[in-house]
Amino acid sequence: MDDSLQNTDELEQEIKSFTDDAALAFLKKIQNRPCEACGVDDWFLIPDLKVAGWEEPLSRGVLNPVFVISCKNCGNLRSFAWARILWFMKSEYPQHGE
Ligand SMILES: [Zn+2]
Repeated sequence: MDDSLQNTDELEQEIKSFTDDAALAFLKKIQNRPCEACGVDDWFLIPDLKVAGWEEPLSRGVLNPVFVISCKNCGNLRSFAWARILWFMKSEYPQHGE
């Protein structure tokens, strides 16, 4: 067993604490840029796919969570590493910082 593997309860809590408000604050913090595919700057959070998982084929299907946003114009998906989101929640999100 790999100790770095996260249990699902912990992950579920993290996902719950990453509210839509927190997600929007994150996008503002990083100065999220217009869509690389079509140039339009109009994004939305997909209600049932705000956090998805990228599978690691070399680690027997371990899932890496990613925060996903979609371009309203062309449907392009942009994804952010969950570790970056956790750092934001821990250290940069005003309501949770200090
Ligand atoms: Zn687009």
